[in-house]
Amino acid sequence: MDFLNHTRYVPMNRRRRIYEGKAKILYEGPEPGTLIQHFKDDATAFNAKKHEIVDGKGVLNNRISEYIFGNLNDMGIPTHFIRRLNMREQLIREVEIIPLEVVVRNVAAGSLAKRLGLEEGTQLPRSIIEFYYKNDELNDPMVTEEHITAFGWATPQEIDDMMALAVRVNDFLSGLFLGVGIRLVDFKMECGRLWEGDMMRMVVADEISPDSCRLWDIQTEEKLDKDRFRRDMGGLLEAYQEVARRLGILNEVERPQGSGPVLVK
Ligand code: UDP
Repeated sequence: MDFLNHTRYVPMNRRRRIYEGKAKILYEGPEPGTLIQHFKDDATAFNAKKHEIVDGKGVLNNRISEYIFGNLNDMGIPTHFIRRLNMREQLIREVEIIPLEVVVRNVAAGSLAKRLGLEEGTQLPRSIIEFYYKNDELNDPMVTEEHITAFGWATPQEIDDMMALAVRVNDFLSGLFLGVGIRLVDFKMECGRLWEGDMMRMVVADEISPDSCRLWDIQTEEKLDKDRFRRDMGGLLEAYQEVARRLGILNEVERPQGSGPVLVK
């Protein structure tokens, strides 16, 4: 398909905006069934009650998410991702987003630690999958499979498909980060229905980046994720850069010009 390799140039201000969220904008894509996902520099937490602009965050999340989704595609874990277009944008397939956040946890942290009185950092007996209903007015409440099927957000088969995807993504991400000295504590993913004629496939959608994962340095337990922003710790951009550097995907733009190869110890 031609659009996979060549994108007609449409000036940004002439593109039709389909949706604007807290950290991303979706524009109409160059071909039917495609969209352009634009990563902004906005950092938000606590349902956008806390909001700042972090220069360069969007560029890093675009690169990190590209790397992860590209690898998922290569492993046969279907996603909406087609390819990165530029520093802040990627071409994706249009999907019907399931209004759920799928959270996978390996280690107790955040809301789980609070809710069940667990010490942050406690290894869980096994990975746990949770669902949250995407609704800002309600603060994304946790829901069970009963709610999901009763209210028609997804069918039992679709819940099975999402859980199977979540387990595979968790295994891949845990190994990927372990290899670069990072513990994957938990992460959030979203799923969408991809229609191909009459056939529907559940795919991984949205983004996977340090905005949506908890990533701790294995040796020092230093946080390399959005908790630095949520907890006013500072150093958000540096932490995201460190994640990108360890994954080997910091490109020329982020690296000082003319410094030559960087020795990675
Ligand atoms: N998460 C997210 N978006 C949300 C809520 C959670 O990306 O709207 C991610 C969060 O970064 C963490 C995981 O999901 O990696 C679990 O978050 P938790 O339920 O502990 O909520 P939080 O402590 O972020 O309120």
